[in-house]
Amino acid sequence: MLPWTAFWFGLSGATLWIDYERRERRSQTMPLLRIQRLLSFALLAIGIVMAFQRLTGQEWSINRLFFPRSLEQLPYRPLGLMATNSTICFVLLGAGLVLLTYAGRSLLREILAGAALLIAFLAVLGHIYGVSSLYSLDRYAGMAPITVVGFLLISLGVLTARPAEGAASLLVGRDGSALVARRLLFVCVTLPILFGLVWLEARRANAVSRELGVSLFVIATVVVFVVVLLWTARAMRISEKRKKDALDEAEMSSRSAIEARETAEKANRAKSDFLAVMSHELRTPLNAIRGYADLLDLEIEGPLTESQRSQLQKIQKSERHLLSMIDDLLSYTQIESGRLTYDVQDIPLKSIIDEAFMITEPRARARNVTLEANFDEASSETVRGDPEKLLQILVNLISNGVKFSHPGGTISLRCCDGQPTNGTPVIDIHVRDSGRGIPESKLSEIFEPFFQVEKGLTRHNDGVGLGLAISRTLARGMSGDVMVSSVEGEGSTFVLSMPGT
Ligand code: ADP
Repeated sequence: MLPWTAFWFGLSGATLWIDYERRERRSQTMPLLRIQRLLSFALLAIGIVMAFQRLTGQEWSINRLFFPRSLEQLPYRPLGLMATNSTICFVLLGAGLVLLTYAGRSLLREILAGAALLIAFLAVLGHIYGVSSLYSLDRYAGMAPITVVGFLLISLGVLTARPAEGAASLLVGRDGSALVARRLLFVCVTLPILFGLVWLEARRANAVSRELGVSLFVIATVVVFVVVLLWTARAMRISEKRKKDALDEAEMSSRSAIEARETAEKANRAKSDFLAVMSHELRTPLNAIRGYADLLDLEIEGPLTESQRSQLQKIQKSERHLLSMIDDLLSYTQIESGRLTYDVQDIPLKSIIDEAFMITEPRARARNVTLEANFDEASSETVRGDPEKLLQILVNLISNGVKFSHPGGTISLRCCDGQPTNGTPVIDIHVRDSGRGIPESKLSEIFEPFFQVEKGLTRHNDGVGLGLAISRTLARGMSGDVMVSSVEGEGSTFVLSMPGT
């Protein structure tokens, strides 16, 4: 192998490696691409220079220019000129490498690399069968066996550099067609070479007549091809069967998953229906309790003693507590069953906040907590939503503020313009309290159904842990949201965002 041939192979190997790195890392980063393109053009240029030297049959050569002393030992003249078939391969593969750096030129690249592969393959046969005209088109220089190996490798590298495109894509993958293609390709290439060699040697040794040799060659080829074909067909049938079994299994498991989901949905519906009926039924006796308690409170049946009044107040408090829990459960089951509907309309902000204050005021007064509201000048006067549900959210947020505030604390509401979403204006309603706050680690959990920061015996406040879950679901159902920020020991701020008008 001449020095520049070795250099060319080394450089083209490096180029293919850079190409592989670029593809693996999926990096279209300019520096790597630029280096690859530069090297490819350099390789093509070297090939063209070599071809030019060969065509013009010049006495000088780049091999002689750089390595004069080592070339002196070579037996053939003119010194350092490369074989014609090698120079053609250099140009074809150089152009193929250049095309690798441009997207979508796979057919031309394959033709160029395929032609080089064919030339190298011819040289392989020439060396195996001892036909010099197949590896040496010139009188003095031929393609050396090691050079042939180099060309085979580089042309295969260029051909398969994009495994997902063109002919290479037929060979890669785990499907049946790729399996058949790989097996047949191997047999198609190796068998004729091997049988041809055996036949040739037998002929040279005069062991068989020409006719018998050809017949044996044909029969051996036919037998091997038939065996490979049957073997491949069997492998394909097994793989088809496996695929079918896997599909059947997947279908069965998807069917049982659907059945399981339907059963779970049915069970969930039954649970929701049960809860809805229970909540509804519980309200009736509770209303009676409230009616009779109110009658007693009005002292229609006669005046109450101090201790009777205190007991009556406890009855009324428990009744209110029970009613609010039942209301929460009812809302939750409605949400769960998906039967909730929204009657969306423009809602005047001030009047809905006044209404929420009216409902929560008695409780706030009882706990000595002050309620105050603040409207930003810029905030719109109305929001879009279902008034009943918006009121439910506001009452829940304010009640929580009252519930978790220390006596003497303040709950302040502030309305201002929020961050518009998809071009729709947003109004933020901040509900800030000066209560005990919520630990940061629990902030994301408080919106989960039945979650309460204080559990069991440490719990002093009523509720079942559904209020915030319901509020967030209702807000999201109206294209809004509820968020929270809190500093433990200082207070919490819940922000209800609603679409403005
Ligand atoms: P409930 O109030 O019925 O327990 P919620 O869903 O309304 O249920 O609230 C869940 C939990 O979040 C409460 O139990 C409480 O621990 C915490 N929390 C809610 N609002 C506040 C608040 N303003 N300050 C402190 N903790 C709060």
